Amino acid sequence: MTKSPLKILLAGPRGFCAGVDRAIRIVELALEKFGTPVYVRHEIVHNRTVVEDLERKGAVFVEGLGEVPENFPVVFSAHGVPKLVTDEAARREMLYLDATCPLVTKVHVDVMRHTADGRQVILIGHAGHPEVLGTMGQLEDGAMVLVETVADVETLEVTDPNNLAFVTQTTLSVDDTAQIVDALRRRFPTIAAPRKEDICYATTNRQAAVKEIATRADAMIVVGAPNSSNSNRLVEVARVTGCQKSILLQHAGELDMSWLDGVATLGLTAGASAPENLVQQVVKALTVSFDVTVERVDLLEEDIAFSLPRALIA
Ligand code: SF4
Repeated sequence: MTKSPLKILLAGPRGFCAGVDRAIRIVELALEKFGTPVYVRHEIVHNRTVVEDLERKGAVFVEGLGEVPENFPVVFSAHGVPKLVTDEAARREMLYLDATCPLVTKVHVDVMRHTADGRQVILIGHAGHPEVLGTMGQLEDGAMVLVETVADVETLEVTDPNNLAFVTQTTLSVDDTAQIVDALRRRFPTIAAPRKEDICYATTNRQAAVKEIATRADAMIVVGAPNSSNSNRLVEVARVTGCQKSILLQHAGELDMSWLDGVATLGLTAGASAPENLVQQVVKALTVSFDVTVERVDLLEEDIAFSLPRALIA
């Protein structure tokens, strides 16, 4: 049987970012240094394949420190943790390793700086996401306010409209956030902004790469987990850019080939917590049903790497 031709536009950059790479490495090094088990609070990054791989190596994933027995190391996930968590770990004299991405830590530092300067902090983000819980948890309950939409800005109540600052979740849509920031600036012209963009380089670059291919593609697959913020944003960005037929796929096994009926050009990318082998498995699965050609669309090269905690490399 003759296979239909399918051109894949493979976005670059895609997949793992420096923060995810570092977080996984921290768990692996902790396992090497301290032996099994090493406890990890929350999914180290939002990807089941990564989590299951680390579980096989001896990591145990928990949601609370209460589940960690005495004298075992615990790693905090890349999304960051509320202060209460680090305080509890210190009080119990636990051996803890913080895999919070340094770009999330930078947001926490900004929150503390604004608070020390007497400003009320507004966080732009998605309620319930672990990064948002961690960032809001840098301050007492109720001290920071969360806005998710432009409409939230219009009804926002603040302590002093002339003494405000905003920070953002690192994995938001660049374009949606710009609209929320505009709304904040319209309502509160003196609001202090981050010195440098809070939406991280990896989120920004992956969205830019998706925009580049979305206008040429009949459909788009984003490899990533349903609870991965930056992966979901990639699907949204593809749709807004004009590629309405865009989906999130956890792995090749979820792919229904009939979904590709009538598709000649397929965009393919992956969220920052999705390993490259999952992308390659999708390409391989497509090759079984289609006469595939792959065109790499590399927007830019990333060369960012973060240092590891001293406790693991000493
Ligand atoms: S997506 Fe951005 S903030 Fe999140 S871990 Fe990666 S580099 Fe850090």
